[in-house]
Amino acid sequence: MKLLRSLLEELEDLLLALQSTRNVTGNKRMPNRRKKKKQLVLKIQMFIEKVLSRLIADPSLVMHTAINLPFLNLLSSNAENTPEGPPWDIKSVLQTGKDKTKKTLSMTTSITIPSACDFHLHLRQDEMMRMVTPKVQEGGVSLAYIMPNLQPPIKTTAEALAYKAELEALAPNVTFYMTLYLSPELTPEEVRKAAKAGIAGVKSYPRGVTTNSESGIENYEVYYPVFKAMEEEGLVLNLHGEIPSDAEKDICVMNAEERFLPQLEKIHRAFPKLKIVLEHATTKAAVDMVKSLGDTVGCSITVHHLQLIVDDWAGQAHHFCKPVAKYPHDRDALRDIVKSGHPRFFLGTDSAPHPIAAKEGPKSNAGVFTTPLVLPYLAKIFEEIGCLDKLENFACHYGRQFYGLSHKQGFEDKKVTLVKESNTVVPAKFEISSTEDLGVVVPFYANKDIGWKITSNFY
Ligand SMILES: [Zn+2]
Repeated sequence: MKLLRSLLEELEDLLLALQSTRNVTGNKRMPNRRKKKKQLVLKIQMFIEKVLSRLIADPSLVMHTAINLPFLNLLSSNAENTPEGPPWDIKSVLQTGKDKTKKTLSMTTSITIPSACDFHLHLRQDEMMRMVTPKVQEGGVSLAYIMPNLQPPIKTTAEALAYKAELEALAPNVTFYMTLYLSPELTPEEVRKAAKAGIAGVKSYPRGVTTNSESGIENYEVYYPVFKAMEEEGLVLNLHGEIPSDAEKDICVMNAEERFLPQLEKIHRAFPKLKIVLEHATTKAAVDMVKSLGDTVGCSITVHHLQLIVDDWAGQAHHFCKPVAKYPHDRDALRDIVKSGHPRFFLGTDSAPHPIAAKEGPKSNAGVFTTPLVLPYLAKIFEEIGCLDKLENFACHYGRQFYGLSHKQGFEDKKVTLVKESNTVVPAKFEISSTEDLGVVVPFYANKDIGWKITSNFY
């Protein structure tokens, strides 16, 4: 890998040298310079061949090394409509390189990255919890940030620790970080106690907006003493960023997130050192707002919101979630921010299983179930949108950097290898219980070929 980097760096030097000879093109008195130029072009071609043959031999190198080098940016900036030129035309050299690089990227057949971190996860309770929790590891995730909206919601440190112990017994290889549910019962004293016990954050749900949010909040200012204590203790505020629908005010699921954003800005201005995560962003407006705020504001993005728009859930209960997927330009904004590699935007799947009867019944519960296949789904999506090289930071590093959290000991560098393989079909369903008939959960993209699978996990 080091060798590849130095090759690319050397190539850049050559390209710069070539550029400087171009600056004197037309100077008839300098035949030596033309000769030198030809030699340089030949050298560059040889380098490109060398580099590409290395990439072809091991495409995963692209993921780790090459992509951020100016060399490849240079290739892509010389992409379109390049006229045919003589062999010493730098554009034609670069075009050849780009075509070959493209071919190489499309030939990427395996990726090895660290195990992932899911910064927004619902693991439920009872039988559902027992089915879902072991699947966190199956999806390639070794650090999970757990939502508190059980029935009843988790409101105290003691409840959170008891829940954590249950989860750890079901998935000993996964590091769990716990959250409390923001409610009038949460006091600054409880926040300090929670911080000492390693609780990582507090989740806020606007009242009645999503699953088990009946005891959510309506007005943030009454919580300012709690936010103050959180800011001092380093707890993170996790915001479900929607306001309740209100026909008289023209508020519905399509604009509930955008209308919430002034609240986010207000809390951030009042508590600039408080870490805040806008959860499961779905709109361009949300992306723009988070980008515009300070480094203490982050944003989680789900697997399914990178893939769905409103047409996909209107009439398809298993794609229905809150916040709902929005317009194509909103999905584009999510994809673009992920492609840009912005470090404050990271994975939080919001995987939220419901029994099939609650999804396909007279009223569909909100939630998409992605836990068993998190990394394969992401590999498919990132490949489709042309940024497989950004997968590792998005799924493994940026979230942990923002939170400043660590894996359980000995787990820092566990790896996952994904392989591209057609006929990798998502199961139709997962039985909630192996002993009782409690129904099934239908996963995201059930029965579809997602083309990627995990072949080695946590090694
Ligand atoms: Zn959620």
